[in-house]
Amino acid sequence: MKYSLLILCLTFLTACKNPKEAVYSDALLSNTNYIEENATLLDAAKMNLSDTTFVNLKEYGKDFFYDMKYATADNFLKTQVYDCPECYLRLKTVKALMKANQEFVKLGYKIKVYDCYRPLDVQKKMWAIVNNPTYVADPAKGSIHNRGGAVDITLTDYSGNELDMGTSFDHFGPEAAHDYKNLSAEVIANRKLLKTIMQKSGFKTFASEWWHYNLANASTMPVSNFTWDCKK
Ligand SMILES: [Zn+2]
Repeated sequence: MKYSLLILCLTFLTACKNPKEAVYSDALLSNTNYIEENATLLDAAKMNLSDTTFVNLKEYGKDFFYDMKYATADNFLKTQVYDCPECYLRLKTVKALMKANQEFVKLGYKIKVYDCYRPLDVQKKMWAIVNNPTYVADPAKGSIHNRGGAVDITLTDYSGNELDMGTSFDHFGPEAAHDYKNLSAEVIANRKLLKTIMQKSGFKTFASEWWHYNLANASTMPVSNFTWDCKK
């Protein structure tokens, strides 16, 4: 009786292994310490939202670094325009970004985020300073940032040290463009790495800015102007 009970238990444990655990184990085989938390491990409630719901990236992915430039005065506006540093995006943008980060983590890198969703009123402030559509989207049309479908990012190592991309974020000059050739082989390789995996994960490049990526078809989503709650 005891033996049959033991066999039953063992059979049950093997056959009924939680599928979420199985997915996580496979992921862990790729990289034990730094693998991006798989989406299937997240609360069903978080993943079952509409793909166009605005969500906070930090509640989904844990392997990102953040340097939200517009929550500081260290940006081309020379002023802090966000009350606190949060990265809100549409859920479908978050899913694609997590997919990309998982690929980067396997290779020893992580995404560092500079900017995500941007309220339309902030876009108007930017346009008042740089009214050049090569670098700042006209608020009359709205940026993909205003739609929750764009991210400004770079790559770091696991310690958070940024890879050399040739220019700083928001460098408004030809050196920041994807087709600019007068760069070191290392910079070209770093930009290519970022571009290759972001494109594979469903993002499009923006010709004049190596750091900016738009989720494909994001221009169909409406512009928004909400500001996130900083008291949470
Ligand atoms: Zn951008």
